Amino acid sequence: MKYKFIGALIGTAVGDASGAPLEGYSMDEVNSVKGRSDTWEMISGRYTDDTEMMIGVAESLIENKGFNGEDMALRFIENYDPGRGYGPGSKEALRRITEGESWEEASKTLFGGKGSYGNGAAMRIAPVGVFYYDDADKLREIAYTSSHITHSHVLGKEGAALQAFSIALAVRGTEKEAMMLELKEFVKTVVYKEKLSKVESLLENGTEVSKREVISELGNGEAAFNSVPTAVYSFLRAGSFKDAIVYAVSLGGDTDTIGAMTGAISGAYYGEGGIPEEWEKKLEEGKKGRQYIRWLGEELYQVKFCI
Ligand SMILES: [Mg+2]
Repeated sequence: MKYKFIGALIGTAVGDASGAPLEGYSMDEVNSVKGRSDTWEMISGRYTDDTEMMIGVAESLIENKGFNGEDMALRFIENYDPGRGYGPGSKEALRRITEGESWEEASKTLFGGKGSYGNGAAMRIAPVGVFYYDDADKLREIAYTSSHITHSHVLGKEGAALQAFSIALAVRGTEKEAMMLELKEFVKTVVYKEKLSKVESLLENGTEVSKREVISELGNGEAAFNSVPTAVYSFLRAGSFKDAIVYAVSLGGDTDTIGAMTGAISGAYYGEGGIPEEWEKKLEEGKKGRQYIRWLGEELYQVKFCI
């Protein structure tokens, strides 16, 4: 179980770093540089905003032994490094909180008052998925409220909840074949129900389905509903952590985030031992690098089970 917790966090970072140098590439562009899992190597071990924010979520859950919105927002602000490629919504929400607006209010007026439905909340959700893996209602509640700091649109929150619940099922050791049914029962909005039905029919068609079809059915973009189901599919169709990440990134588009989310679910499912050692070793070191992320996973486990 401890290695599942660590696996979800390290998996986020490895998937993020794997996709980062190819962010915004089209599928064809990725495949001209990459695309074969037997020859795939990580270009760089540097992670992006996905992992930096995931670290903030983990730090806050550990420190507060559960969710504290004000503290989590503060962690995001403390960790914020503009060189990590933050999206405009998160950037603006964090700027407003820095200037004194409450974390409950800051994200609400973004995007013409509708709030963001980008994947910026789902990409960082791994610590919530592992910490609340045994309580689906609590998991949904914390996925929603933690999303709200930057992403207040229901489709952004629901994407984070779906991603968190996928991680939770992986932690529980649910068989892949049984996951679809659980996920379909879990999601509440029509958009995600429809996307999951598409995931299901793509899976029924086996591994012969073309990437072009997967992209047109599920998406590979920055909206949560165009990327969370893609990560779920990339995980479910693959037989290993490595295959899942190589596939997810090979779809192009928002490669760092789809990689991060696929890595979180796969890391939780296969455990840290399923992550290629040479990939984990390649992850950046430093103050909040590889060893720190591992430690956060261990601490989350300690807080969950030993206190
Ligand atoms: Mg990123």
